[in-house]
Amino acid sequence: MPDGKPAGERCLHLDEENRCGLFGRPERPAVCSAFSADADVCGESRAQALHVLGWLEQATSVAVSRSIR
Ligand code: SF4
Repeated sequence: MPDGKPAGERCLHLDEENRCGLFGRPERPAVCSAFSADADVCGESRAQALHVLGWLEQATSVAVSRSIR
């Protein structure tokens, strides 16, 4: 994804089995390669991981506002 993956959007490199299509390839983003699975983030299931990641995205998001003139 040339401009990065927006929060809340599914990465276009995920395959139908939720595996990274770039795993092991040089074009895989450095941030993805540097991430190590951790129980604090991933929990014990996909559902727990989505819950924690959703909370992290919301807690670290920046509000975008439009100025009205
Ligand atoms: S590891 Fe990175 S590139 Fe691969 S599917 Fe996940 S977000 Fe996409």
